[in-house]
This record gives sequence, structure tokens and C-alpha cells, in this order.
Amino acid sequence: MRHLIQTTDLDKDEINIILNSAKNYLKDDVAQTLKGKMAITIFFENSTRTLSSFEIALKRLGASVVRLDVSKSSTAKGESISDTAANLNAMKPNAIIIRHKNAGAGDHLSKYVSCPIINGGDGAHAHPTQALLDLFTIQNHFKTTLEGKRIAIIGDIKNSRVANSNIELLGRYGMKITLVAPPHFLPKTDLPTTSDITSIIDSVDVLMSLRTQIERHDTQTYGSLKDYAHNFCITKELIRDKNIIILHPGPVNRNIDIEDEVLKDSRCKVLEQVTNGVAVRMAVMEHFILNH
Ligand code: ASP
Repeated sequence: MRHLIQTTDLDKDEINIILNSAKNYLKDDVAQTLKGKMAITIFFENSTRTLSSFEIALKRLGASVVRLDVSKSSTAKGESISDTAANLNAMKPNAIIIRHKNAGAGDHLSKYVSCPIINGGDGAHAHPTQALLDLFTIQNHFKTTLEGKRIAIIGDIKNSRVANSNIELLGRYGMKITLVAPPHFLPKTDLPTTSDITSIIDSVDVLMSLRTQIERHDTQTYGSLKDYAHNFCITKELIRDKNIIILHPGPVNRNIDIEDEVLKDSRCKVLEQVTNGVAVRMAVMEHFILNH
């Protein structure tokens, strides 16, 4: 049984197949290849984009979707997450998509089910479909190999599952990655790092801004978000007329992560990422449900 817990669960050939079919799914007219299939979504952490994106993706391919309302589920009555999974599995879904605040939750669950588990984000560990849609968005923009293209990942990298998954995946596609953050937001890494965003702005092709993951901080290790914004917000003044694109997985903290004016700029791909996310998740769900 194949599961998608992290980006390394997919080799490059499979990723290329998935992203190629995602290209077709950007078109309106799609076949109902998952008709008769059923998937369950269980999101123990908040989500706007990922949850709706998976559900829309599945429905567009003809699958039915059951969303477990975790506030009303029996985990709230003390049932363990593995027992919840085993019970859901007994209803014979074709896939379960899970988000959880604990790193490793999806992997743990995969031991109790007989259908693919798709990780919709586990703690600060991984968010594989976000990285796939980011790769897809970057590839669609450059329309050439990403080998040697330069990306700066900016923000709370240490606590970001999006950064983790992207560092693995974009690195595998040959992108040169620099981490830009104040020291307390930097993970242990062999990658180049800086806390001076102006020092890299002339030498990058892509900026990926990330939200400060306040929900994952035990104590506040930084001043105010306003102080953070002063040094790390992507502003018009910073990007001027540079030939770059700007990504962010959302939710964007306006004028802290990215300035309002930049969000309106055609170089900012935030909403394109959301559109691409549905197409990529259609391809992912089809790959895992039909090929497992
Ligand atoms: N939506 C992304 C995630 O779930 C990024 C974020 O929340 O900052 O990881």
C-alpha cells in the first residue's frame, strides 16, 4: 500500500507523471476517473485552502467525499487517533486525507488502514502536496528546467512543514536554495542562510514567503510581528522591477509577510498557487487511488 506522507515517497518519474496530468486538469473538461470512489478528510488543524482543495479535486473527478467533523468525532471523547482510523477504514474508503498538529500522525495512521493515507500537513514535518503545487507553479512559470534557478525561502522556516517539503523537492529539481530568516527561525541546515534579505534580492529568481507559525511556538522568541515585517516583509521597494516571482502557501499575513501592493502585482503567484493546488491534488488523488 502506497501512502503520501512526505515528498520522498514519490520518485522523480512519478512526480513528472503527476505534474503532467495536473497540466491537463487545469482545463475545465475532465473525465470522471474517480466515479464510485470515496475519500474521507479528517483535519485536526485549521485549514482553508488544503481541505477545500482536496475536496474539490476529488469531486471534480467524480469521487464522493466524507468530511469527518473532528470537533464532533470520538477523538474528542478520548478515542485514540489509531482507533478512529481503524474504524474509518472499516467503512472502506479509497483514501484518507489527514492533517494533524503532530509530526508523524499520517505515518502512524497508515499502519491501521488498508487504503492510501495522504498527508495534508503534519506539525512542522511535511506538507507534500503543497510542495508539489509549488514546484508545478514554478515550472509553469519558467517553462524550462529548474536546474540552477535560485530561490529564497523567507520566514519561520524552522517551524514550517511547507519549507521542509520544499527544501527536499525543489532541491531535487536542482534549485539553489537560500534560507532567509532571523536566527531563531532558522533550522539546523547545510544550506546557505542569511538574515539580510537585501543581500539576496539581486540574485534570486523566486521568493517564497512563509507565515510566522505562532501556533507552534512555546514561547515568543521574537519581538513583535511588526519588527519582523520591518526586516522580512516582501515590499515593492524590495522587489522594484526585478524579474522574479513571489510565492506564499497562505494564509498570508498582509503587510507582515507580503505588502498589499505586492499581493496585487502580477509577479505574485499566490492565487495561481491555489488554482494549481486543485489540479495537482486531482492528479495526486488519481495516482494514489487508481494505482495503489
Ligand atoms: N497553509 C500552510 C500549512 O498548512 C502554511 C501555513 O499555515 O502557514 O502549513
